[in-house]
Amino acid sequence: MTHTIDDLPLAHGRAGTRRVLRVHRFGTPGARPKAYIQAGLHADETPGHLVAQHLLAALKALDGAGAVTGEVVLVPVANPIGLDQIVLQSLSGRFELATGVNFNRSYADLSGAVADAVRGRLSGDRAADVALVRQELRRAAEALPTATQADALRRALLTLATDADLMLDLHCDFEAVMHLYTAPELWEEFRDLAARLGCEAAFLADQSGGHPFDEACSGVWWRLRERLGVDAEALPVACAATTIELRGQLAVDDATAARDAAAILDHLRHRGVLAGDPGPAPAPRCTATPLAGVDRVAAPEAGIVLFRVAPGERVEPGQVVAEVLEPESGVRHPCRARVAGPVWARHLNRFVAAGETVVSIAGTEPLAAPGTPLLTA
Ligand SMILES: [Zn+2]
Repeated sequence: MTHTIDDLPLAHGRAGTRRVLRVHRFGTPGARPKAYIQAGLHADETPGHLVAQHLLAALKALDGAGAVTGEVVLVPVANPIGLDQIVLQSLSGRFELATGVNFNRSYADLSGAVADAVRGRLSGDRAADVALVRQELRRAAEALPTATQADALRRALLTLATDADLMLDLHCDFEAVMHLYTAPELWEEFRDLAARLGCEAAFLADQSGGHPFDEACSGVWWRLRERLGVDAEALPVACAATTIELRGQLAVDDATAARDAAAILDHLRHRGVLAGDPGPAPAPRCTATPLAGVDRVAAPEAGIVLFRVAPGERVEPGQVVAEVLEPESGVRHPCRARVAGPVWARHLNRFVAAGETVVSIAGTEPLAAPGTPLLTA
């Protein structure tokens, strides 16, 4: 048995309080490939919390059978700060209440510090160079300043994940089909996972804006390449990171979570983190599309939203996907798709403000200008 549990104390708690980050580790420390998996960075996204519990139970059994050939680091509750934010009887886990900052934004770019540390030290031996960069990534993450409790959480999570070969960040949307986000350079690597999970959309962006956790883990490698003036042959993106969106916030049941966990474990077998043959992945249910191609259909006025489509339905340009009914005037405003593609998410609320996204559609061509922030708040 290799399973260990660490409770990492989080700095900057108020007097009389104590928060810890519970970290489960499986496999020989330092074994490769290393998979890092976390759930609930947005603390009100419960599907990830449940899938992590299924992963934990399965990993304990696999560990007992000696089947963890790499290393797995699992953080089933990645945001104890957010999980404690109850506002008027409702869990509010996406933004830190103290600052309004999204818990999955503002992750540090370690490429500058690591470039300074490794410049002139790369040997040309790819494996040795990757190991050196990982060592400096850990060092740079540990050295991050932490003025606030949320920063202490960011530092702890990034330190755990930054040297991983594979990083899976478990989230969900409001009401949605299974989908994931990753970088164009990593899509080939994640086709297997997307197919096993049954993803109905996969969004690609090098830089989606706001510095989310997955891009802090993977993007640091290509930013480092740019800083050092080396190519992908010399330095691969050695951390394949993705944000998995486990459908919608209410998609919380044991049978679904067990299937999702099984798909993730099969992907870990596919990558050699776990022993065993996962068998071939099923036929993919989507092709990847640019994140910049997402049509976020907004409410033109505040009102009652009446959906005309459900997640998973395919729509055409000009099609009415929802109506927003102004309750004082009785006027109904049609909300139309601009692109052809599958509806992959819709709002959870049924009364929306003007400008809020009510339906999201996966278009194939970029709509957003380069540099536009591509993620929602
Ligand atoms: Zn999320």
